[in-house]
Amino acid sequence: MRTCRTISDIRTALEPRRSGTVGLVPTMGALHAGHLSLLAAARAECTTVVMSLFVNPAQFGEPGDLNGYPRDEERDLAAAAEAGVDLVFAPSVEEIYPPGFQTWVDVTELGSMLEGEHRPGHFRGVATVCLKLFTIVRPDLAYFGQKDAQQVAVLRQMIADLALELELRALPTVRDIDGLALSSRNGNLSPAERRRALALPRALATRDPERARALLDGLQVDYVEIAPFDPPVLAAAVRVGSTRLIDNVPIQEVS
Ligand code: AMP
Repeated sequence: MRTCRTISDIRTALEPRRSGTVGLVPTMGALHAGHLSLLAAARAECTTVVMSLFVNPAQFGEPGDLNGYPRDEERDLAAAAEAGVDLVFAPSVEEIYPPGFQTWVDVTELGSMLEGEHRPGHFRGVATVCLKLFTIVRPDLAYFGQKDAQQVAVLRQMIADLALELELRALPTVRDIDGLALSSRNGNLSPAERRRALALPRALATRDPERARALLDGLQVDYVEIAPFDPPVLAAAVRVGSTRLIDNVPIQEVS
């Protein structure tokens, strides 16, 4: 496995691999089994697997959230190698956003509802960095988690609207044995907070917004709503202490 820090490096490394299929798995690191499921899917399907490792400042609102984001590059690189990744693209912030950067992608409707309403500018940051990663890596396939269902919806829209030549694969949410969706943010929960956080998957499992809202009573709920994505999901965001958690389930259980 090779780690590339610059756009020019990763482009050069990809040049001899263009005859096969290239798969991209964008991540912000702090890898867990959810990320590993995306890497495994890419490994099974693609000749070359590229994982990007970039904590994207443009998709964070509060600076505290960005500064507190868990980072452990050494551990992430070991996990990526173990998962069979060929190339890691781990650029600096300046490499992606050089001084004077001023071009942004806004998926206007899908990017402004639900998460977008509570995190203004979040999906602008996500769409912009993903378009830049797609342009740099030029993947045939890109892999995302259904855990971030709105992110998938926003990126599918961007790919269609801009006629990008890649296919997006969305993979099911990986959960802990207790039902909590894996997230890099779960490590910030105290044991007591984690027990309270279990209300989130339990509430979503009802697949009914009213019953879900009742089960989330006592937590600070940003939203719990049916989201008009493909497939439609019951989506929620809650705050448990200082940790914000999002989760969703498809309305129709797929068998
Ligand atoms: P992140 O590093 O949080 O930006 O996530 C990178 C990718 O992993 C995104 O496509 C996420 O949707 C996906 N992901 C995060 N958590 C999970 C999970 N529990 N199950 C499946 N995919 C996930």
